[in-house]
Amino acid sequence: MPLYQTQKLKVYNSLSGKKEDFEPLSEGYVGMYVCGPTVYSNVHLGNCRTFMSFDMIFRYLKHLGYKVRYVRNITDAGHLENDAEDGEDKIAKKARLEQLEPMEVVQQYTLDFHGILQKFNLLPPSIEPTATGHIIEQIEIIKNILEKGYAYEINGSVYFDVEKFNKTNEYGKLSGRKLEDMIANTRELAAQDEKKSPQDFALWKKAETQHIMRWPSPWGDGFPGWHLECTAMSTKYLGETFDIHGGGMDLKFPHHECEIAQAEACNGHAPVKYWLHANMLTLNGKKMAKSTGNNILPNEMFSGENNILSKPYTPSVVRFFMMQAHYTSILDLSDEALSASEKGFQKLMDAISSLEKLTTSSSSSFNVEEWKQKGYDAMNDDFNTPMLTANLFEAVKHINLIKEGKETITEKDKELFIETMHNFVFDILGLENQNSAMLNSDKLGNVIGLLIQLRNEARANKDFSTSDKIRDQLAEMGIQLNDGKDGTTFSLS
Ligand SMILES: [Zn+2]
Repeated sequence: MPLYQTQKLKVYNSLSGKKEDFEPLSEGYVGMYVCGPTVYSNVHLGNCRTFMSFDMIFRYLKHLGYKVRYVRNITDAGHLENDAEDGEDKIAKKARLEQLEPMEVVQQYTLDFHGILQKFNLLPPSIEPTATGHIIEQIEIIKNILEKGYAYEINGSVYFDVEKFNKTNEYGKLSGRKLEDMIANTRELAAQDEKKSPQDFALWKKAETQHIMRWPSPWGDGFPGWHLECTAMSTKYLGETFDIHGGGMDLKFPHHECEIAQAEACNGHAPVKYWLHANMLTLNGKKMAKSTGNNILPNEMFSGENNILSKPYTPSVVRFFMMQAHYTSILDLSDEALSASEKGFQKLMDAISSLEKLTTSSSSSFNVEEWKQKGYDAMNDDFNTPMLTANLFEAVKHINLIKEGKETITEKDKELFIETMHNFVFDILGLENQNSAMLNSDKLGNVIGLLIQLRNEARANKDFSTSDKIRDQLAEMGIQLNDGKDGTTFSLS
């Protein structure tokens, strides 16, 4: 029997503003779409948090026994600057500034994105479609919306008619906005604006002669509007209605609101059963922004090369830090907070190694079954990872007491304990025991031993440039050499 039949999951649906019982459209299967990155620059740490949250959700759904089709797109065209209706395409702009082909920009930053996510131990999605690979599907949707009368063509561009849509459907239902208020709060249309109303958004934009990313269409050469690609790709791979649509909180409006409008105009019904939104990451209490310098790149966290952190942190420590907050809460990153997470992470990893070596007894003083259910209760409550980690530290306490002989555990309970701990820590939270994996590797220990020996020889020959180089370069890799009276030892920082 699959686990989902006994472990009843509840999710917070942004559309209803309530926690709801999770019941997929067809039993045993889950279709999940998450808005992916626009690949015109290195992936932002805040975006990493969003994708990590949905990775944890993906992992938990799979753990519960669902067959999950997880689609996360790559935006490689159509996303204009400032998420506005006018302005340069983000990728085309980067290509112009760096004198590259737009697809070179896309390739470079897609590789960066994949590399960083792999370091954070994210599982790849089932399908990772691109906007440029689905131009035909997007044109078909525009034709359909035009036929249904919810869009209009003007000067080679096609716009979605929000006011018309709002007469029959409710525009703003996801973000809790009313169209009347939006209209009251916007300025008059500029004279050169060709839209009927400022709320209307582009489905297709005419490409001016200098615009390099362009495709032929029934309305002339142009490119698709940003919101359209997600409707096209989610419909193609998950159907007209699917279970979960996720993304960052900042995408709720206008992006997701426009996705709902497009799909409802096209198909006459709502596209998504559960809308899930992950909250943002701040840095030292402030919004992260390149312009203010209050910013940090994922790779700078791993190398420690920045002014914000006192030392490097492993991807698993950063992931653990992120998992200690609920995905719908704002999380503030700071050196102190990361340092505290690092200590907690190490305690957890030490306890897991101790657990495997515990001596067993004829009775258990610790109720493993009850502890295990508490962990599931946490995850079933809208993926409450902070509650789960609190429960893991409860286990750490008992592991240490058993180790000290103050509590006991049977062989059978120990097996269940190990299995459950591994499920929660490695499979669901997606952590990796990076430090101890290195420490436990005999080969690595031997290699460092050899480097220590070479360094000692260099020092004996007064070749201090070589000996310093060995010490400094190991330090850069996070391996500290400690010279003591009994010789040199090493530790991982
Ligand atoms: Zn999207």
